[in-house]
Amino acid sequence: MNQATVRVPFVDLNLQHQPIQKQLEAAINGVLSKGDFILGKAVADFEAAFAAASGTAYGVGVASGTDAIALGLQACNIGIGDEVILPANTFVATLIGVLKVGAKPILVDCDPHTALIDLEAAAKVVTAKTKAIIPVHLYGQMVSPKQLLDFATSHNLFIFEDAAQAHLAEREGYKAGSVGIAAAFSFYPSKNLGAFGDGGMLLTKNLEISQKMARLRNYGSSQKYVHEEPGTNSRLDTLQAAILLAKLPYLAQWNSDRLTIARQYDTELASLTSAGIIPMQNHSDTGHVYHLYVMKVDESCRLQRQQIQEKLLAAGIQTGIHYPIPCHLQPAYTYLGYQQGDFPQAEKLAGQILSLPMYPGLTSSQVTAVVSEIAANL
Ligand SMILES: *Cc1c(COP(=O)(O)O)cnc(C)c1O
Repeated sequence: MNQATVRVPFVDLNLQHQPIQKQLEAAINGVLSKGDFILGKAVADFEAAFAAASGTAYGVGVASGTDAIALGLQACNIGIGDEVILPANTFVATLIGVLKVGAKPILVDCDPHTALIDLEAAAKVVTAKTKAIIPVHLYGQMVSPKQLLDFATSHNLFIFEDAAQAHLAEREGYKAGSVGIAAAFSFYPSKNLGAFGDGGMLLTKNLEISQKMARLRNYGSSQKYVHEEPGTNSRLDTLQAAILLAKLPYLAQWNSDRLTIARQYDTELASLTSAGIIPMQNHSDTGHVYHLYVMKVDESCRLQRQQIQEKLLAAGIQTGIHYPIPCHLQPAYTYLGYQQGDFPQAEKLAGQILSLPMYPGLTSSQVTAVVSEIAANL
């Protein structure tokens, strides 16, 4: 690729893993020596530890965050004939989960300042068939639990959290994964808590839902060769669970490192507001776990988002866009009948957002280098 040497990568997982390599090797070797590769001890241990850390009761590990959503909705008895509200500006897996259970996805727009789901817009699309809302705690910031609970109570529907980007996030005294009937997490390697491959988990306070979820991921069976319901094979590997269990004690510190980095970006980018560089808003000083640090390149900016991205890349700074195409405009889902213009805020954001490098271990001078490079081009 024709680019400068990478000075600031978008993510660097080595920085996270090298300091704890011994613990990781011990975890891997432990599974090797036991040989309990499928639903072994580390799975149950990690499920319990992650549920407890997230302020809820039960965890059920599955093969991916996408499966945590799809099987989780099924475990909550959401399916054919039900409508499920979700934001248009989410990673496509949220939509995939809803479609997989045969429910009808009802997309809504977002708040342009936070990119979180617009609950006023959501209120307008509730019908007698609406069974649930999926708030996506996008970029690591929770949708207001108070507002969500008010919304769910007044419309008599379930909250199913997509917390794939929000491990241990907090807001208004709630932790991500503890607000609704159930919550889906992803352990994709670059998530705040990442495996060495794919992984996911459903968290819930409801014992029956957790038991159903445990059957669904294991061929619909709780007793060998007896299949109580139509399930599938979607288990979290013991090896991945052991790695995640070894990493979990460091997660709070990693999240706090992300927050420190985000505050530095906020401070340094503040002087560029008048030039059209606008960081996404956070709800308060704490609780946001900054899976991503996202800023907007406003229409008032002299340069377009793509130009800024190219200038940064030429200077060895990698960036990302999360996400460039809202769900309703994805080619696979035109059959849902949505059109350009249906969700103006989500569409506008898709054209303006830019995710800056963000990971534990990113140094303060690297952050300054990123901001200086943006500033130098404006
Ligand atoms: C990563 C992610 C998912 C999907 O998780 P996978 O483990 O990649 O299947 C779902 N929703 C959101 C918001 C995500 O960021």
